[in-house]
Amino acid sequence: MPTDPTIPCPDRGKVCSRCAGMKTVADFGPDRKNSDGLKSCCRECLRNQAVVYREAHRSVINERAAAYREVHRAELARKAKEYWVAHRRECLVRKAAYHVAHREGSRRRHQQHRAMKRGASSAEPVDRHAIWVRDKGQCWLKFPGCWGKRLSEKTWHADHAIALSKGGEHSSLNLRVACPSCNLKKNNKDVPHQRYLL
Ligand SMILES: [Zn+2]
Ligand SMILES: [Zn+2]
Repeated sequence: MPTDPTIPCPDRGKVCSRCAGMKTVADFGPDRKNSDGLKSCCRECLRNQAVVYREAHRSVINERAAAYREVHRAELARKAKEYWVAHRRECLVRKAAYHVAHREGSRRRHQQHRAMKRGASSAEPVDRHAIWVRDKGQCWLKFPGCWGKRLSEKTWHADHAIALSKGGEHSSLNLRVACPSCNLKKNNKDVPHQRYLL
């Protein structure tokens, strides 16, 4: 039996140097620099310290992370791709769960992101329900065969009145309710869409 009280043994535990609590050996992370091979602070204290630090230095941390991402863009993309290939199933499950939990928010962000990629002059979060109510759920394109039919809130497409590629904004003001078939016709440029602007 060890007699030195400074050497921890699993059933005796170890006192944390910060909170002074008596903890089990498993509550300490490894640290080869210490004679007992364990950190002097317990995991919980280190975790709390990290949270406090992150709160206090949020903007610096974000800037540093952004700079890192900028420099290591290619490498990060490659790693992300590798991870995705190796963990496809888990990724999909996690993504689906996240999507369900954050349905409205992730849809908005996705659309903002897509709008900017398509050349929108600006993109603001858009409340689809408000647009649908404002337009009374009626297709604004009114191509032959549609004539402005009323749509169910589940099926309508949000159409950019001024196309993003022509400098339109991704905003509630520039979005109109359109039925899928009219929206498709417009995008195929069967009819010059300018005719349908107010
Ligand atoms: Zn502690
Ligand atoms: Zn229509």
